[in-house]
Parts: sequence; structure tokens; C-alpha cells
Amino acid sequence: MTRIALVTGGMGGLGEAICIKLAALGYHVVTTYSPGNKKAAEWLASMKESGFNFHAYPCDVSDYDSARQCVAIIEKEIGPVDVLVNNAGITRDVTFKKMEKTDWDEVMATNLDSVFNMTKPVCDGMVERGWGRIINISSVNGQKGAFGQTNYSAAKAGMHGFTKALALEVARKAVTVNTISPGYIGTKMVTAIPQEVLDTKIIPQIPMGRLGKPEEIAGLVAYLSSDEAAFLTGANIAINGGQHMY
Ligand code: NDP
Repeated sequence: MTRIALVTGGMGGLGEAICIKLAALGYHVVTTYSPGNKKAAEWLASMKESGFNFHAYPCDVSDYDSARQCVAIIEKEIGPVDVLVNNAGITRDVTFKKMEKTDWDEVMATNLDSVFNMTKPVCDGMVERGWGRIINISSVNGQKGAFGQTNYSAAKAGMHGFTKALALEVARKAVTVNTISPGYIGTKMVTAIPQEVLDTKIIPQIPMGRLGKPEEIAGLVAYLSSDEAAFLTGANIAINGGQHMY
């Protein structure tokens, strides 16, 4: 039986690595992209050239109706979702003093409301079928806070509260819910930070002395998605090169 994995934001740095890893392990991988993303067809074609036949659907994860409709189409055209990876996310970094309400609202909607929006339409089916994996991609900055990220840190910390509460509710039905908190990973979200800031402020805080690789996060997603991880639920797994230990 081929399991279906839905990865939100699969065309971003981490999402792509997660899609590739799960596909290589034999999952039927479906992903989403923002409705305005004009590069979706190009991405799908380049993945196909590399041997990955992904399905991708437009979905604004910050919008409940869009998420619900997207899941309904996926379930009709592909099948029920066995593994959900809530990966899509954004930053709107600015100090609290200068933060506008829109900076707060957009980050909360895309990074935290999205977890409700995407999980709600798939969770009951997982419970009914007696198997499921929900994996929420949070951040080290949700664990320790970060200057200029009150919005992002709050949303990412909120994700883990959701993880723990839902994990309790669905544990008896063999559905696991976990959070992954990556440190700084070399994707465009991080390489958009000026090189000087990376070199002088960020990398010196990482005992490994480097950014993480998307594949390193994808490997952990693969494990959490597996049957071997059946007893692991409600956890927040840090993967940050030693930057933050708790
Ligand atoms: P990217 O910016 O490369 O990718 C983000 C993805 O989210 C894109 O595919 C984007 O899709 C999607 N997305 C954004 N807004 C929406 C929306 N409203 N609806 C649907 N999709 C949306 O980021 P990363 O790959 O670096 O990050 C992935 C996740 O990992 C994020 O949640 C991030 O917070 C988290 N993370 C990243 C770290 C890092 O160092 N890179 C560290 C810790 C956590 P589209 O392009 O189509 O808009």
C-alpha cells in the first residue's frame, strides 16, 4: 500500500527536500503552492526531469476555505492523506517597536492558522483509518525567541502547543503529531539574510560552524513519517547544529 504524503510549500527550500526524500522512500507525494506562484509548472517540470512525478495543487494555507477545498480535491483525485507535513511559512521580520498589525497578522495566519486549516480536513480521516502522521515544521526561534521576530517566534511556539494537545487526542488511534524545530538551514529564507549578518551574528552561534542542510531536516521528517516512529508523539525535536540545547 502506497502512503500519501501532503507537504505544504513543497516548492520552497525545505519543502522540496522533504518531497524528494519522501518520494525516494516510496510515498505518493502531493504538495501545495501559493495560488499566485507563477513558477509552479516550471518546478513540476524540472522535478519530472529529475525523475519525480509530484502532484501539486494551489492552496493558500492561511485561508481555511482554500485549505479545505485543496484537501477535498487531493482526496478525490489522489486519495486520503496519510502524512501531513505543515511546512509552508513566511517571515516578516521587524522589531516590535516598528511592527505593523499586518506583519503580525500575516505571520500568524500563514505559520499558525495554517496548521489548523490543513490539519482539520485530514485529521478525522487518519483517526478513522487508524494511522496517521502530522509533522509541524516550527523553528529554533520558536524555542528561544529571536530579535525582530515577535510574530514568527510566537507563531512557531504556538505550533508546538497545538502539537502536544492534538497528540493527546489522537494517540489511541495510532496518529502521531510532532514538531520539528530546525535551526538555520541554507534555504532562501536564510540566504536572504545579509551575508555579513550570517557571518558575524548567526554562524558564530552555531557550534557546528555551518548552516544546516535541507536534506538533514528531510531525513528527520522521513523518520517521523515511518512505522518505526509509531511510539514517538507530542515531541518537539530540535535540529540546529547545537545552537540551542534545552
Ligand atoms: P521558503 O521561503 O523557501 O519556502 C516557504 C514555502 O512556503 C514556499 O514554498 C511558499 O510557497 C510557501 N508558502 C508561503 N506562504 C504560503 C501560503 N500562504 N500558502 C501556501 N504556501 C505558502 O522557506 P523554507 O523552505 O526555508 O522554510 C520552510 C519552513 O521551515 C517554514 O515554515 C520556515 O518557517 C521553517 N524554518 C525554516 C528555517 C530555515 O532556516 N530555512 C529554519 C527554521 C524553520 P510559494 O513559494 O508558492 O509562495
